[in-house]
Amino acid sequence: MEKKLKILFDNLCCSQCKAGFDEDSIEIKRREPGLLVTHLVCRNCGKSFGVAFLGLSGLDIKEPLEVQQGPEPINYDDVIDAHRFIKNLDEHWQNYLPKN
Ligand SMILES: [Zn+2]
Repeated sequence: MEKKLKILFDNLCCSQCKAGFDEDSIEIKRREPGLLVTHLVCRNCGKSFGVAFLGLSGLDIKEPLEVQQGPEPINYDDVIDAHRFIKNLDEHWQNYLPKN
């Protein structure tokens, strides 16, 4: 599954140092059924690009996502908020995912 994740970030590079992302740049923060919480970090300069929620049910990734640069590096509170967010998701959770 992580190999598929790499495709998402394949054509992106760090806005700070222009280094490309690879599998090691994507950290899995949490796994839920059909949903991954990932944290994208530049391995070259350490810049954090925040948390991305990825739906995995019937995943068929062909096009890389646009990654929104987060305003702040992740911290403990962000992880807790993400956890609460996921717990509150219902069957319409895909509406919260970025549209291609
Ligand atoms: Zn960088």
